[in-house]
Amino acid sequence: MTEQTVHPVPRGVRGHAEPAPASWQERVSTVAASAHRMRHHIIDMGEAQGQGYVGQALGVTDLLAAVYRDQLRYHPEDPHWPGRDRFLLSIGHYAIALYAALAEAGVLEVEELATYGADESRLPMSGMASYTPGMEISGGSLGHGLPVAVGMALGLRHRGNDALVYNFLSDGELNEGATWEAAMGAAHHGLGNLVAVVDINALQADGPTASVLSVDALVEKWQAFGWHAVRVDGNDIAELLHAFDRLRDCEERQPRVLLCDTTIGKGVPLLENRERAHFMRVDEHEWQIAREQLDGSAR
Ligand SMILES: [Mg+2]
Repeated sequence: MTEQTVHPVPRGVRGHAEPAPASWQERVSTVAASAHRMRHHIIDMGEAQGQGYVGQALGVTDLLAAVYRDQLRYHPEDPHWPGRDRFLLSIGHYAIALYAALAEAGVLEVEELATYGADESRLPMSGMASYTPGMEISGGSLGHGLPVAVGMALGLRHRGNDALVYNFLSDGELNEGATWEAAMGAAHHGLGNLVAVVDINALQADGPTASVLSVDALVEKWQAFGWHAVRVDGNDIAELLHAFDRLRDCEERQPRVLLCDTTIGKGVPLLENRERAHFMRVDEHEWQIAREQLDGSAR
């Protein structure tokens, strides 16, 4: 993509005073550099536990970097600031990816990531709102994130708060009826302050999504439910930023959904091709290979 237009960074990165407009190239390179650091954080955390949801996390890193470095409004030093945009991790087992994003965002110290999954850590393997600054909900009871987000978006609107509510869910959660009830409710109530972001990695715990319960024609499905829907390559940062910009091209009272096709293990070929990728086991010696592959130095 060769977009040269100068875009203002929307709504004030990190919630501070409106920043100077960033060029398109600056936006892309900021997010790309952030995503690279996040992938290293994820590999480091994965090594600390020896296993986990590393594949999904690497798949959504570009997306989370775009959210936290280009889109979201927040104060890193005050995670409860009332004016913050809310980012709800419905897929609680993706917490390892969000911890990396929160470190990039300045909400967590990078050093704390080393405690991931340990007893007494604030960074459990599944996201817990009461443990971790910046973790808005305790996700993981899958299919409940979007209903919570609808309630939150309604509440904020009633209070006259212009913050946005993002709900990050998986393609597996599109197999849940509650997700579609919430989708109907969001359109019914005209929740233009709600953004759903879906990780379409084509896999869930019981196998490929296409074989468990296929979810095709997704743009058309969401549109039929009254949403403004955009589908993109979730590992193409320029495409992601364009897509976030395009999400604003809709009715003021229309909820928006960004459908992101992602590759499990993205950036680490060793893990991109792994069988049984949902809960990935990685041998001790492979973590360093993963780092080298990330840095393009693998032989
Ligand atoms: Mg999935």
